[in-house]
Amino acid sequence: MLISNDQNCLCGLEEPYRDCCQPFHRGEKIPLTAEKLMRSRFVAYEYRLTDYLLKTWHNETRPETIEYTDNMHWTQLSVNGRKKGRKKDSEGWVTFVAHYSIGKQAGFLHEKSYFKKNSEGYWQYVDGEFKN
Ligand SMILES: [Zn+2]
Repeated sequence: MLISNDQNCLCGLEEPYRDCCQPFHRGEKIPLTAEKLMRSRFVAYEYRLTDYLLKTWHNETRPETIEYTDNMHWTQLSVNGRKKGRKKDSEGWVTFVAHYSIGKQAGFLHEKSYFKKNSEGYWQYVDGEFKN
């Protein structure tokens, strides 16, 4: 997918990518909430930003590398629940539905993700559980 700086960010917030998740991806800004981090990671999966995905993955659960599925595109994100994960918290949960397509097939993933702040105070993804 082409990255357009002017379009609304793929993360679902109504802001252009350049003002939304791009500064996180470039390391110019740090997401202050677990939800913002989660949204930026969704976009990073679509844009195949492996370094960003690994950097924002907690070291207890971080894989060696990220496996992508050929032809798979992440198309839309809806956040439908959150617990803690605010600026002042040290852990948080975000529930979301992430829509994807593989070729002509479409599907979605309903997940509750768990996030923790690392020792430097940056939000990181720990793990997730699938929901029905
Ligand atoms: Zn965004």
